[in-house]
Amino acid sequence: MQPKQSIIHLPVYQPGKPMEEVKRELGLTEVIKLASNENPFGSSPNAKAAVEAEIANISLYPDGGTVELKAAVAEVLGVESGQLIFGAGSDEVILMIARAFFVPGDETVMASHTFPQYKHNSEIEGAICVEVPLKEGTHDLEAMLAAVNDRTKIVWICNPNNPTGTMNTTAEIRSFLDRLPANVLVVLDEAYCEYNTSAEYPNSLELIGQYPNVVALRTFSKIYGLASLRIGFAIGPVDVIRTINQVREPFNTSRFAQAAAIASIRDQAFVESCRQANTEGLAYLSEQFARLGLTAYPAHGNFVMVDVGRPAGPVFQSLLRKGIIVRGGHQLGFPTSIRVTIGSREQNGKFIAALEQVLSETPVEV
Ligand SMILES: *Cc1c(COP(=O)(O)O)cnc(C)c1O
Repeated sequence: MQPKQSIIHLPVYQPGKPMEEVKRELGLTEVIKLASNENPFGSSPNAKAAVEAEIANISLYPDGGTVELKAAVAEVLGVESGQLIFGAGSDEVILMIARAFFVPGDETVMASHTFPQYKHNSEIEGAICVEVPLKEGTHDLEAMLAAVNDRTKIVWICNPNNPTGTMNTTAEIRSFLDRLPANVLVVLDEAYCEYNTSAEYPNSLELIGQYPNVVALRTFSKIYGLASLRIGFAIGPVDVIRTINQVREPFNTSRFAQAAAIASIRDQAFVESCRQANTEGLAYLSEQFARLGLTAYPAHGNFVMVDVGRPAGPVFQSLLRKGIIVRGGHQLGFPTSIRVTIGSREQNGKFIAALEQVLSETPVEV
């Protein structure tokens, strides 16, 4: 058997260690997972009630057209239903975009380092990935623009960027869009936009109205706390959304996911409380990193990339032995940093205490 050439080199995705496995292997009773940017406060109680109510219907296919969900999201965001498409997480929306647009030999521009799914799905479709290094942890939009040529189909911009947490401002994005050929699609991945409190953060809904080639990705996995249900979406011009819809699987999002998402988008009070707690948690972590003499990238989501000043692998392992799971930067292109999700106040305190101890025990040079 011969798999297609474009996938032979691809690695299988390596997820973070599951909490249960860490507990068992290390004999720990309490483990704090700050590795996947999940919501430490769970999800809206209304979402859980909606899932429970949906159990009565498990023998029935979901609404493939997500009519009710589209209407609910359209109302809250102030867009048209036809501007929305839902996927099994925004991961699946990325897959659908790549599938709908790329033919082998197309080029696509993205940052390095950024969310790996852009490259992964582009390569599966045979597209050539042009990776532009981050500048001080932020997308270098001038260099990305310079990398665009007449073979470029899509530019991916992760804002705030995962894994650095940095953001591009409205002025930067507008200046980029003003000079980009209109036949190049721009995907703004805004998985963490609800956490953002900066006045400089772009309003992508406004941009979508003004530029015919901009699509924004959103997810229910992060601030809405529905990661296990797999649901995310794109907002864009009606014609682009229709194109993506042509490659969508008929029943790609479950009844549970749809019901929970409807309940969640209508509970903006929960979102607001999570955003506030996150802002406080970020202030606390920033203060503590400064006290420990560590520098971090300016964070605009619910996670921080902090330079621990020594190889990340041993720091990651030592934190793990203390029951704290973070992401080691050595696996993300940042050999002396760790990426940590902002947790609850209690989790943040325990993380800092553990980190302080680990740093005092881990040599700077290994
Ligand atoms: C978490 C994340 C996503 C995707 O999440 P889904 O669970 O697939 O919706 C997309 N983009 C970025 C940058 C993320 O961090």
